[in-house]
Amino acid sequence: MRKKQFKAESKKLLDMMINSIYTHKEIFLRELISNASDAIDKLYFRSLTDESVGMSKEDFKIKIDLDKDSRTITVTDNGCGMTAEELEGNLGTIAKSGSLDFKNENETKTDVEIIGQFGVGFYSAFMVSDKVTVLSKAFGSDEANLWTSQGADGYTIEPAEKDAAGTVITLYLKADTDDEKYSEFLETYRITSIVKKYSDYIRYPILLDVETTKPVEGKEDEYETVTETKTLNSMVPIWRKNKSEITREEYESFYKDKFYDYEKPAKVIHSKVEGQATYDALLYIPKKAPFNYYSKEYEKGLQLYSNGVLIMDKCPDLLPDYFSFVKGLVDSADLSLNISREVLQHDYQLKLIAKTIEKKIKTELTNMLNKDREVYEEFYKSFGMQLKYGLYENYGMNKEVLKDLIMFVSSYEDKMSTLGEYVSRMKEGQDNIYYACGETKAKIDMLPQVEAVKDKGYEILYFTDNVDEFAIQMLMEYEGKHFVNVCADNLNLGTDEEKEALKKENEEAKDMLSRMKESLGDSVTEVRFTNALKNYPACLTSEGMLSTEMEKVLNSMPNAAGIKAETVLEINSNHPIAEKLKTLDDETLEKYTKLLYMQARLIGGLSVEDPSEFSKLISELMV
Ligand code: ADP
Repeated sequence: MRKKQFKAESKKLLDMMINSIYTHKEIFLRELISNASDAIDKLYFRSLTDESVGMSKEDFKIKIDLDKDSRTITVTDNGCGMTAEELEGNLGTIAKSGSLDFKNENETKTDVEIIGQFGVGFYSAFMVSDKVTVLSKAFGSDEANLWTSQGADGYTIEPAEKDAAGTVITLYLKADTDDEKYSEFLETYRITSIVKKYSDYIRYPILLDVETTKPVEGKEDEYETVTETKTLNSMVPIWRKNKSEITREEYESFYKDKFYDYEKPAKVIHSKVEGQATYDALLYIPKKAPFNYYSKEYEKGLQLYSNGVLIMDKCPDLLPDYFSFVKGLVDSADLSLNISREVLQHDYQLKLIAKTIEKKIKTELTNMLNKDREVYEEFYKSFGMQLKYGLYENYGMNKEVLKDLIMFVSSYEDKMSTLGEYVSRMKEGQDNIYYACGETKAKIDMLPQVEAVKDKGYEILYFTDNVDEFAIQMLMEYEGKHFVNVCADNLNLGTDEEKEALKKENEEAKDMLSRMKESLGDSVTEVRFTNALKNYPACLTSEGMLSTEMEKVLNSMPNAAGIKAETVLEINSNHPIAEKLKTLDDETLEKYTKLLYMQARLIGGLSVEDPSEFSKLISELMV
């Protein structure tokens, strides 16, 4: 029979397993049991709507057999099984599920870390065995197949005999060494404790034959050894237990195992709700965003159970988009088991549950923000963007839920700040919340207007994400304070006298300014003097709702319509250039105007539209 080779990543992982020095090798059993349970779930699901399955909940089980003579452990399930193609596809390739994104982040991790953090599925069997066979028959197929592998050199698949659908996995344990006693895994006490530790909540019985010594009936002082089949797991799902019975570790390992995260969650929320809607919910707020979080591939949703039975794997209706990062499950007796997806969407109970869950998440995030600031800021690094999108979406419909959860870096001690914190620090006489936009904080700090506002002693929020200014415009105001872009023309920082003086100056230079505007064509709507700038000769400000930053964002979108912000070129009236301009002839004035405009664009983080003209003008000036 021809031996087939594993796919490259699989081989790498397999090698890692075979040579592993990982100390918790016992997790191989958890992985096999969890696969068996998933396989049973699939067939059980089907049995709900398909009578030909011919099985009821009580019929499903997982059986472990230990054989000291042949040094084998066998894990048998009567789940959906696998066809030859599935054996090939599932066991020849690793982690289609996306639980491992091998190339990117794992190269810097050690084997031990990877194994410890992910658990690595079926292949972990090779940590304890030098040969593994998988005998499987898919439901509805009349053929069975045997998959055999002795490790990294490949595997074979051949036709085999098996009566019912399901899978039998046999591990041939490695020989004991001085350091590793693999024989331990043939002892019933050891297997019992491993199952209790990792797989207690599995919803199908995990059976093991246990030998016990019993008095012989009717005969005194006589004992016999009998074999009894025991169920090792309590089958109570973790979320149905009392909170006081569950340790933090249990919550966390359940999360990592079930939702494929290698980090502990930032927050565990276990709530038992009774009332209009009665349900148990176990929710997790992750610390880090999954690699596909901000992409179309990411599917939000919570697992939905009816009385402990899974009815949907990712129910999207239970989570609003802005909390789509939340993982977890909801178990409610109020939902019918056979409920279809379409019906579910209109289900009144479901809506009620979704509403209370949203409130609960908001409360927990608020608590985290107030009491566990560091953790919140870490969470916010990953998911703050989603909250801001939430604010922007649907014309700001959800602003009440979100406005106190968002943060920006502030010029106050360069720290993250909520809007509430900003407002509480506002100076007397400060009416607005000032913000400035740019790619990075450093670039924003180079804006002339930022310097001017800071000089007045006002705090500035740094908007560095594309969505920031859009989101804030949906919010419109916070506690009665309006948001003002420091680059907008309505900044108005000066005193009344200063404003009056400026007005006069602009009036007097009217002709010159309009000639300057003409030489710039449509690029600006106006040229005028300002007294808000300190050191810079000129800057661009925007009029109306659309800032230059928003222009940049909108025009970077796939179907951009060449939107233009209305910009004004402002000349620093306190800069020597202001006087100089007044002495120039028309031709030179035009050149100087263009140069000032180009400089202002560059300082504002925009590009110069015609670099060769820019260079020509500069060199002319130099010679
Ligand atoms: P994961 O469980 O993370 O997908 P595994 O390597 O553990 O990764 O398993 C790979 C795939 O093999 C599973 O997704 C499943 O489709 C299939 N599989 C594994 N064990 C069984 C089983 N006992 N019965 C049916 N299918 C199985």
